[in-house]
Amino acid sequence: MFEYAPAPESRSVVDIRPSYGLFVDGTFVDPSDGGSFKSVNPASEEVLAEIAEAGGEDVDRAVRAARTAYEKVWGPMPGRDRAKYLFRIARIVQERSRELAVLESLDNGKPIRESRDVDLPLVAAHFFYYAGWADKLEHAGFGANPRPLGVAAQVIPWNFPLLMLAWKIAPALAAGNTVVLKPAETTPLTALLFAEICQQADLPAGVVNIVTGAGDTGRALVEHPGVDKVAFTGSTEVGRAIARAVAGTRKKLTLELGGKAANIVFDDAPVDQAVEGIVNGIFFNQGHVCCAGSRLLVQESVADEVLESLKRRMARLRVGDPLDKNTDVGAINSAEQLARIRELSEVGAAEGAQRWSPPCELPDRGFWFAPTIFTGVTQAHRIAREEIFGPVLSVLTFRTPAEAVEKANNTPYGLSAGIWTDKGSRILWTADRLRAGVVWANTFNKFDPTSPFGGYKESGYGREGGRHGLEGYLNV
Ligand code: NAD
Repeated sequence: MFEYAPAPESRSVVDIRPSYGLFVDGTFVDPSDGGSFKSVNPASEEVLAEIAEAGGEDVDRAVRAARTAYEKVWGPMPGRDRAKYLFRIARIVQERSRELAVLESLDNGKPIRESRDVDLPLVAAHFFYYAGWADKLEHAGFGANPRPLGVAAQVIPWNFPLLMLAWKIAPALAAGNTVVLKPAETTPLTALLFAEICQQADLPAGVVNIVTGAGDTGRALVEHPGVDKVAFTGSTEVGRAIARAVAGTRKKLTLELGGKAANIVFDDAPVDQAVEGIVNGIFFNQGHVCCAGSRLLVQESVADEVLESLKRRMARLRVGDPLDKNTDVGAINSAEQLARIRELSEVGAAEGAQRWSPPCELPDRGFWFAPTIFTGVTQAHRIAREEIFGPVLSVLTFRTPAEAVEKANNTPYGLSAGIWTDKGSRILWTADRLRAGVVWANTFNKFDPTSPFGGYKESGYGREGGRHGLEGYLNV
């Protein structure tokens, strides 16, 4: 049986403190009522650190610090000076990227190859990119004198902890806002290391505040009357609750929510390339990806060939220690998420779909789920409609391009989609008809700070990334 044994040299690059306070007004402080919770390594169930739990009073303190910093320092600061701080943060993130990547993999369970080669480069890229906007806002088509909104409350999920932080903080600060950010309760550690980076960059106190805690902390933050803007990434269910809480207030709101993306493989697609895209689409980050290609729509005439090739490829996926550089699929982020994946997979089998996983030995401790596909799935099945947020692919077939589009759009979500074909005209025809914020052609899960990201329908509203990402933080 596989034993979980982190590579000691990797683990040693990061210095995890036994406990962490809240980052308010430029320093780490204790929570007012002394509450705390534990952050756990999902690959070993080892407790990594004790984390302060922010209550209403702490949230109030953080919002007040952000307000003062906004009014006295950050709001009036010329864009070129804000840019200097953002460039400095970007450079420190690069310098400390090994440490950040290891910490991300320990806290989240994602393979080190992904945190090192995908998450961290993108985090730095977001800060560099938005640093470049800070002194050019008047030239960006927002009118003569675009103004920041004020204090932004930002609540993020656990699947890309540091990258979601970068998507939120970089544009907000570039536009002249100050922020109070709440990371997810299962992955607070890289946000707290980022707080140290803000200190290292000499960012003025109160410009970035990090309050840790669970849903109650998030609720106190988004409902705080001193907040001008709420930016949320997470589940559609919580997004709805936040929209209700914010309705009738002066707060502006952007929501990045769930997805159930179709990855459409046409009969003329190069099979090997498409199979790589299917695997990347659903097994990257254990499928904990809002835009994961969780529904494979494959043209009937090539379905057998594609599925055989996919199964051969899945048999070569290495599941295990996130700190091992050869690992392809790491740990499921939490016991709760594992229970949800198991439950929906059981529903899939009970509803009549055929379940398949390659033989794979899972570690004894920690939270693990083998890469899984379900064939014989129909639109009526729950696994075709609900977000599983795990390494589970639902396979459906289609005969004509029109049927592919109809099935792809038959979902309450609309975040992303993928198209695999050799014909350029078919890419354009299909992309034009898909109701999804992001459409990839002959690739999947590609991200870039210059490119707006966000959903249609129940996947939310507003865009992050690119020039559009600034709109959510400006009065035009
Ligand atoms: P979640 O909605 O349970 O939690 C997200 C965050 O909201 C956490 O920080 C949580 O503590 C906080 N929260 C919970 N209840 C709250 C409340 N009532 N008020 C304020 N904050 C509250 O989601 P999750 O399980 O952490 O993340 C998975 C979900 O996020 C998936 O649905 C996924 O699709 C979505 N997601 C979307 C995007 C995107 O860009 N569209 C990106 C990543 C993840």
